[in-house]
Amino acid sequence: MSTHWEDRAACAGTMLELWFGPEDYDEPKDQTRWRHRRATEFCATCPVRTDCLAAELIRPLSEQHGIRGGLTPRARERLLARWRAAGLVPEHCPPEDVDLVRRLLTESDLVPATRYCPGS
Ligand code: SF4
Repeated sequence: MSTHWEDRAACAGTMLELWFGPEDYDEPKDQTRWRHRRATEFCATCPVRTDCLAAELIRPLSEQHGIRGGLTPRARERLLARWRAAGLVPEHCPPEDVDLVRRLLTESDLVPATRYCPGS
């Protein structure tokens, strides 16, 4: 049995466009809001949202895209800025230690877990 966290992702097998947006046209703002809400609802049911968010936070901001761990890129940027201001992670580069990031993440940083089942 595989133990990699991605194998347990709630978004596995879903349309990636929900998390990353359309590739071939500019998305209207109301569609973006709807898409973010739906993706976040999936993330709230996901058993690996801490692993997902930590894996994204150690990537350079310029390489971060889409909703990951229930947070938008802007929300992740704010989280990193808060950690940097508190001296918890380096000033000018993303934290490279995924275990450190996992320890820094608190319940309040995560989209609240829910039993809501998107699509039901
Ligand atoms: S937290 Fe969200 S984006 Fe990350 S694996 Fe789970 S469902 Fe997918």
